[in-house]
Amino acid sequence: MSFDPIQMLDAEIALWEESGLTPRLWWRDDDTTELSVPLSKLSDLAAQFKVPVLLAVIPSLAKQELSAFVSSNPWLDAATHGFSHTNHGDQDTKKTELTENSLGRSVQDVAQELITSRKNMEDMFGLAASQILVPPWNRISTSALQTLPSIGFKLLSTFTDQKLSTDIHQINCHIDLMHWRPDRLAKTIREVTDELLICLQDRRISDYPKQPIGILSHHLVHDENAWEATEFLMSYFAKQPCIKTLTQADLLSLTH
Ligand SMILES: [Zn+2]
Repeated sequence: MSFDPIQMLDAEIALWEESGLTPRLWWRDDDTTELSVPLSKLSDLAAQFKVPVLLAVIPSLAKQELSAFVSSNPWLDAATHGFSHTNHGDQDTKKTELTENSLGRSVQDVAQELITSRKNMEDMFGLAASQILVPPWNRISTSALQTLPSIGFKLLSTFTDQKLSTDIHQINCHIDLMHWRPDRLAKTIREVTDELLICLQDRRISDYPKQPIGILSHHLVHDENAWEATEFLMSYFAKQPCIKTLTQADLLSLTH
């Protein structure tokens, strides 16, 4: 049988409808710092297919021009992507910014950066953007995690269904459009569809079918395959009335 991604997704969505359930999907795109051709392309696709995209913006590197750009596209919103996307992990650990380390960086240093991040983001994109934290490399140390409520974060987003030990509501991403290793190549439409089907099937039979499924893109490193997958997914979400794609406001409303 030939591979028909639309037919395969339609069959799964029909099962959701039969169960009286609505698949909830959301889109996160990481590492925005400035206007660029790829960012415009992503913005145009979001507007064309009316799919909300949450841009994880790096607060200390964000150029002021982004503020007007995001506010002029109703399908774009922002979230706080760490502080400066600097790796502070010790040598033998995976890359991470939101951590103390053996070189003398303390959890108070991390907290101070995040307070500055929130202020930058609120000034540029409004309160909601400053309340959603996307840790760089999807990692945060246990002690830094404990500081988030007092800093004012309401929502935390990392990757996969990992549940971190915090009272802050978590809405993660599950399908990354890129293969990062070994060569940083994009996945094909077939690979992305297969991953989405598995996520949809798992959610449908789980105890938490309302928990959103997140797509993760990185517009700055997209090759042709990544743009094809982006356009395929967004066009599919647009023409499948059963699917609900969540806005920044929808995501924050799930936290209370
Ligand atoms: Zn990042």
